[in-house]
Amino acid sequence: MTLAKAYAARSATTPLAPFSFERRTPTARDIAIDILHCGVCHSDLHTARNEWGGTTYPAVPGHEIVGRVTAVGDGVSKFKVGDIVGVGCMVDSCQHCQPCADGLEQYCDNGFTGTYDSPEQVSRAITMGGYSDHIVVHEKFVLKVTHAEADLAAVAPLLCAGITTYSPLRQWKVGPGSKVGIVGLGGLGHMGVKIAAAMGAHVVLFTTSPGKTEDALRLGAKEVVVSKNADEMAAHANSFDFILNTVAAAHSLDPFLALLKLDGTMTLVGAPATPHPSPAVFGLIFKRRRLAGSLIGGIAETQEMLDFCAAHGIVSDIEPIPMAGINDAYERMLKSDVKYRFVVDMATLKESATA
Ligand code: NAP
Ligand code: ZN
Repeated sequence: MTLAKAYAARSATTPLAPFSFERRTPTARDIAIDILHCGVCHSDLHTARNEWGGTTYPAVPGHEIVGRVTAVGDGVSKFKVGDIVGVGCMVDSCQHCQPCADGLEQYCDNGFTGTYDSPEQVSRAITMGGYSDHIVVHEKFVLKVTHAEADLAAVAPLLCAGITTYSPLRQWKVGPGSKVGIVGLGGLGHMGVKIAAAMGAHVVLFTTSPGKTEDALRLGAKEVVVSKNADEMAAHANSFDFILNTVAAAHSLDPFLALLKLDGTMTLVGAPATPHPSPAVFGLIFKRRRLAGSLIGGIAETQEMLDFCAAHGIVSDIEPIPMAGINDAYERMLKSDVKYRFVVDMATLKESATA
């Protein structure tokens, strides 16, 4: 066992604060990773504040991890000490059900093990995430990072925001000739814009923040629509092949469904604490429109996404923060005041005093 320095939420209503706990000694198939950077996902906030219910405290969030391998178990073949690697939202799954066999570990029939606040497969101990100085992970759930070392902080958000947008864009076959809407320009949304544009789609960004227009165009959107403006919305009626909705708060889906053309799909990846109002049935049946959901992506697809982003020069637009700045970052995230992902520089945790 090794002592990990971390930041944890001890209840839904108290700020995150220094915390330490034991990480397991690497077993034969495990990799020990010194965490360099960890992105700050809105799911971290939902979990820390128990907005989805069921959070186990103390909770150490963080599932956008980039680090350096410090030790490998005897049976590890994929990685060696010194490699730069990533860990995303999952650290294990049952590895014997059909979804796992198909590389869809996120849909594991027996429940995948999330990187934080999730029971381990055998011990059922609750996992602790990337707001910590190191982590031990089964090699199957560790990703190779090939981006330049100078980009590593900006690579971290690909491990959740990147794959969560890449997977549905691939699933719904977005490419040249597709008209694609991305709803919300936050951590997920800005990756969705970049990736859909790199796939060759005509990207339209929907935002509630008119001040983000220039950024959206720079990131790869061809058009920007302020979603509260009914006239701007109406100009796009019945025209989209696919809309990816990343919004972290409950809202009416009907104005977006009305923009889908015949057989078009809107996929929800945003996971608000309270449900969206039910969509109007007529908005769906008249154009055989589809409303779907999507959860992160499998391990093989996450590697594919990292390689795609490396090949296309895609990283996240980030604001680095010290670990002690996490509570302020959460407040700013709630105000949509982040361009476009906070990433914790884990050196700041290693240098700080232990709790
Ligand atoms: P984020 O950085 O906070 O971005 C969310 C964006 O939604 C905001 O930037 C804002 O964009 C828009 N928004 C926020 N509040 C809104 C409101 N009241 N009405 C309309 N728009 C609003 O969050 P994130 O990290 O991208 O995560 C987004 C959601 O996805 C979270 O719920 C998270 O838990 C979930 N998530 C799901 C998965 C999955 O596998 N499905 C994976 C990761 C995260 P504008 O300013 O442009 O309007
Ligand atoms: Zn996430």
